[in-house]
Amino acid sequence: MSIAPDHVVSIHYTLRNDAGEVLDRSADEEPLTYLHGHGNLIPGLERALAGKQPGDSLQVRVEPDEGYGSYDERLVQRVPRRALKGIQNLRLGMRLQAQTAEGARTVTVTQLAGDLVTLDGNHPLAGQTLNFEVRVAEVRAATAEELAHGHVHGPGGHAHH
Ligand code: ZN
Repeated sequence: MSIAPDHVVSIHYTLRNDAGEVLDRSADEEPLTYLHGHGNLIPGLERALAGKQPGDSLQVRVEPDEGYGSYDERLVQRVPRRALKGIQNLRLGMRLQAQTAEGARTVTVTQLAGDLVTLDGNHPLAGQTLNFEVRVAEVRAATAEELAHGHVHGPGGHAHH
């Protein structure tokens, strides 16, 4: 069965940046499972997977505009620590929900300097060219329930609700 919209796809993958450092990978025995054609993967990777079959391996290079977008300096802000006094154990790399003019947004603490805390609202992989090594493990038709929900159920998917 080939990868096409409305199919449930399981892949093993390793993601590296242009320096060859591993940024992310699927767990050893547990592939990433997603519903194809529903925007659950970044566009550049989803497009490259279309038509592939179980057992196929591929290398995919995804530029930021087909990945997590370009890096936007305007999403970086510095706030005084007292503005975050409700947060326990503030530390680098911590992810927080911040209220902004555009609504709630996840921000990452990227710098702690004296009284100032730097919060970055960019996705951690924004602005990066992504190099994926992918192996397709399994492809099956989605169930009617999965299509109605727009995500996968069962192993590798969401716990049901
Ligand atoms: Zn569901």
